[in-house]
Amino acid sequence: MNPDWRGAVVRRLLLMVVASLLLGLLTDEYAWSLVVGLALYLGWTLVQLLRLHKWLTNHQPEEPPPDGYGIWGEVFDCLYKLQRDDLRARRRLQAIIDRVQESTAALKDAVIMLDSDGNLEWWNSAANRLLGLKDPQDSGHPITNLVRHPAFKDYFESGRHQEPLELPSPVNDRVHLQIHLTRYGNSEHLMVVRDVTRLHLLEQMRKDFVANVSHELRTPLTVIAGYLETLLENVDQVNPRWQRPLLQMNQQAGRMQHLLNDLLLLAKLEATTYPSNNQPVAVEPLLQSIRSDALALSAEKKHRITLEADTGLQLKGSETELRSAFSNLVFNAVKYTPAGGEIHIHWWGNEQGAHLSVQDNGPGIEAKHLPRLTERFYRVDSSRASSTGGTGLGLAIVKHVLLRHQGRLDINSTPGKGSVFTCHFQPSQVART
Ligand code: ADP
Repeated sequence: MNPDWRGAVVRRLLLMVVASLLLGLLTDEYAWSLVVGLALYLGWTLVQLLRLHKWLTNHQPEEPPPDGYGIWGEVFDCLYKLQRDDLRARRRLQAIIDRVQESTAALKDAVIMLDSDGNLEWWNSAANRLLGLKDPQDSGHPITNLVRHPAFKDYFESGRHQEPLELPSPVNDRVHLQIHLTRYGNSEHLMVVRDVTRLHLLEQMRKDFVANVSHELRTPLTVIAGYLETLLENVDQVNPRWQRPLLQMNQQAGRMQHLLNDLLLLAKLEATTYPSNNQPVAVEPLLQSIRSDALALSAEKKHRITLEADTGLQLKGSETELRSAFSNLVFNAVKYTPAGGEIHIHWWGNEQGAHLSVQDNGPGIEAKHLPRLTERFYRVDSSRASSTGGTGLGLAIVKHVLLRHQGRLDINSTPGKGSVFTCHFQPSQVART
């Protein structure tokens, strides 16, 4: 309250008391005069209070408060000023919200705001087009009821949103969408959906091209390799000058066949997201047979290959795919570990799921290479890889097989000491006998 007003109130009260006393002097009834004076003052205050109440409950926006006298006039003015400031701040905020909504509405990408339970709060018009949301009927509905793809439900509920999810649009399955989820504020979600049909088609073309070229090259290469083998079988009838070139041609033809097989396998793995089979696979006998093949591959390098496996622990999935992933890891250990080295294969289970590790005491890999190791054709040392006959696709195959079996690959390596490649599988993929 303004100090002037405090003085005015005191003056007014004093005036009222003096007037009451004067009345008392005239009537000789001081007490009654004071009571009457105070009652009048109280009545006036009540009237002002009722006017304020009426204005507060019924007034239109921007309608000024009633004229008041004295302290009540000041209260009415302060309230009016507060109300105007509030209105101005609200308009400013609304203008900002309108601008944000207008700009996001103009976006080609869908922007959707969800509350902490995943219910729709706000979305732009691109969301109607890409996801088939209906404004305003869908407001407040759970997004998982409106985008009914199982992969979306899993993605939404998993809480792991670092990587985007790709899926066909619920409106038109020829349109491919990429969905990014971000948490903000009080666990609310911001969902951004992009149309990636063009990228998807290009990626599909790339996959088809690689698969077709690999397939087309297979027959001519089989013929060439076949003739080379026949020539080498009758090597004594061949001009001695041709013996070395023939041997090298045969070796390189074998490498090319290996490469084509790996490319075709990768193309097959990429064609679908889930393995063709999801029956429990007995991993222990599979590892036994991989170990025997590894011993044969090691031959005169005489590696010590040991296997420790939980015999009752099985893994749901495709046996062929798992064989190819596990054997790639074990054969890599044989290829890159010098003669006499030790390789340990371990298959075990715990509450986090099932795990397979392949440990060697070979040359190890520098940390800077580790994140790129599962890329196609990525090699730490190309001269070493070509001498071992590697294709550079082995770990890419492992990664794809694991992805299809809801697993992940962990690589630990110390240069000069050795490497450990560990496959981790989720408990849902585990079966026990
Ligand atoms: P490659 O067919 O060349 O073996 P991979 O994809 O299987 O291709 O492996 C990629 C690279 O990772 C290899 O070229 C090799 O340099 C490295 N690597 C893989 N396994 C091991 C290992 N056990 N020890 C050392 N280096 C390895």
